[in-house]
Amino acid sequence: MSFDGVLGQEHIIKRFESAIKRGRLAHGFIFAGPRGSGKTTLALALARRLLCNGKNEPGCDCSQCAKLAMDENGIVSHGDVHILAPDVQTIRVELIRKELIDRVPFRPVEGKYKFFIMQEAERMVPAASNAFLKTLEEPPTNTIIILESRRPELFLDTIHSRCQMVRLAPLDEETFISELRSREEAVNTESARFLWRFTGGALGEALRLTAEEWLTKGDEFINLLDPENCEDPFEFAETYARKTKRGTLEEQRGIISILLDFAIERLRLRLRDLCKSKDAHAEADVEKVEDALSRLFHAKELIRSNVRVESALERLARRFPAHVGRK
Ligand SMILES: [Zn+2]
Repeated sequence: MSFDGVLGQEHIIKRFESAIKRGRLAHGFIFAGPRGSGKTTLALALARRLLCNGKNEPGCDCSQCAKLAMDENGIVSHGDVHILAPDVQTIRVELIRKELIDRVPFRPVEGKYKFFIMQEAERMVPAASNAFLKTLEEPPTNTIIILESRRPELFLDTIHSRCQMVRLAPLDEETFISELRSREEAVNTESARFLWRFTGGALGEALRLTAEEWLTKGDEFINLLDPENCEDPFEFAETYARKTKRGTLEEQRGIISILLDFAIERLRLRLRDLCKSKDAHAEADVEKVEDALSRLFHAKELIRSNVRVESALERLARRFPAHVGRK
């Protein structure tokens, strides 16, 4: 089978194969899916499918496929495949001109096609989108433009109407768990199941969370939030403000948000178990967990509305119910 390395997207692959066979492959695509759902993996697999000099078999090491393999820094060294990974909040006209519009007219240098893959493309400001409409409408026949996005609803209608929408499906629970565990042996089935729910079936995101040890950090956060371990809410807030202070303010908020999301997901599971349980104490526990959840949601709201991280965390820890994270 071609498209090796792409998991759980059979319907999309079928659509591509059929379009390729009929010579009707579109030139502009929106690849939509959450972070780590495999958008770039799919884009590179499509590039391999079209550029391969060999038999399009898994593990092909022809000159084209070899250059299309991503190195550990996410860099691809194929002269006709351009991945634009913006490290800025907004993608401006100048960047689109330099990286895309000015490059499209040239012929491919290594193979039959040229690929432009833009990550987080919804960050284009309207002027950038507008500047690029003509290119998107009438690219040279051998050019394929892929806009990746977590939030495709933010694209202008004029972009939508010129692109074919490809929505990546989340991985099913079983495939996700076995794939994650085969790549990260230290993750047990229970944690893998948790990550499946937490990431909405996005394997790449789960691998990132695992590599950065978010499971441990999340458990530690819930533990420290327990009044038994945290006598002083102010100290709790200070501890976490200190832990996250290295980055920018935005990164700091990002880290706290993940920890809050993590605690919310843990407690949701706990609530589900309690509701199923026939234990006499369960009812009182349900109330405590619900209280904890509403405090966590409130803290998320505060972080989102730019309240200082320290004050949001201090409010969260103040009168946080005891023992809610425990089984
Ligand atoms: Zn090949």
